[in-house]
Amino acid sequence: MPRFRHILDTMAAYKPGKAVAAPDGRSYKLSSNESPYDPLPSVVEAIAEGARQVNRYPDPGAVALTEAVAERFGVPASHVALGAGSVTVAQQLFETVGEPGVEVVYAWRSFEAYPLLADLAGVTSVRVPLDDERHDLDAMAEAINDSTRMVFVCNPNNPTGTTVRRRELEAFLDRVPEHVLVVLDEAYHEYVRDDEVPDGLTLYRDRPNVCVLRTFSKAYGLAGLRVGYVIGHEPVATAVRKTTIPFAVNHLAQVAAIASLAAEDELLERVDRVVKERTRVREALVSQGWTVPPTEANFVWLRLGERTLDFAAACAVEGVAVRPFAGEGARISIGDPEANDAFLAAAASFAK
Ligand code: PMP
Repeated sequence: MPRFRHILDTMAAYKPGKAVAAPDGRSYKLSSNESPYDPLPSVVEAIAEGARQVNRYPDPGAVALTEAVAERFGVPASHVALGAGSVTVAQQLFETVGEPGVEVVYAWRSFEAYPLLADLAGVTSVRVPLDDERHDLDAMAEAINDSTRMVFVCNPNNPTGTTVRRRELEAFLDRVPEHVLVVLDEAYHEYVRDDEVPDGLTLYRDRPNVCVLRTFSKAYGLAGLRVGYVIGHEPVATAVRKTTIPFAVNHLAQVAAIASLAAEDELLERVDRVVKERTRVREALVSQGWTVPPTEANFVWLRLGERTLDFAAACAVEGVAVRPFAGEGARISIGDPEANDAFLAAAASFAK
């Protein structure tokens, strides 16, 4: 029970829908790295059609979606395991290693679910501080010992948007012992434009202890339906499947994800627009005098220290919800141009 409360306490910061509104009613939600676009008509149609069957349980093995993901990425279906959002898949990965005494290494600050999932699974978190907002892979390699069973590398990193490059990641993977599972959390992979940032799927093929975590929540715009997956070698995918609850991925999520893969070109065009806006927002912030780490994700990071909550409050007055991490900084998602302009205006007046 106490551990359950811990999760809910953390989620209390999460506000669905119109999180904040300006006095004139304007409201921009830039706090959860969601897609700013409405679902595609073809995806809505698939959901409407799927809705006719919700009196029935979904396909427990999500076979059609598993095969669609496998085909899309050119991997065997036996290497794919789905879950209700990639956070659930991450939880299942923690379950697979979860024994007292086990250590899981990850950078910090990174995705806020890692410590919660570690607590739930009863394993020990080993947090390795970021170096200049980036993963310190040398320090992470040094943190691995006989008790380590899993390492998360979040690439691009949430909330800083920073990346690890192919050569440094390969050198790191060469140092990780085989008994340690490396999870490349690539929730924001589709937004990467830096050629030196590897696609984890090219790294997992020759490495049985490496797997890649991806989601339909961000670039594919299905955050509300909860579907994500891991691609890893058969023992990893099988272990994840063994920890799933029956019917974890619901029918509407399955059909919407299949329709999204079929409409991928349209969705990736939207991702391109977000990437263009990311460049515009970052450049505007830099010209306002802010220090903004280079970002390859659909958000920017401002290290504000003690000013973080004041900054979030100032944005809220302008109707812009951002994601503050008290005492550290704020993460601001890239939205549509109007939302981004509202945020830039709030940032400009705060800087003055
Ligand atoms: N990994 C990272 C790095 C994330 O930022 C998120 C969402 N914030 C997730 C995983 C989980 O996403 P979802 O459960 O919606 O797939």
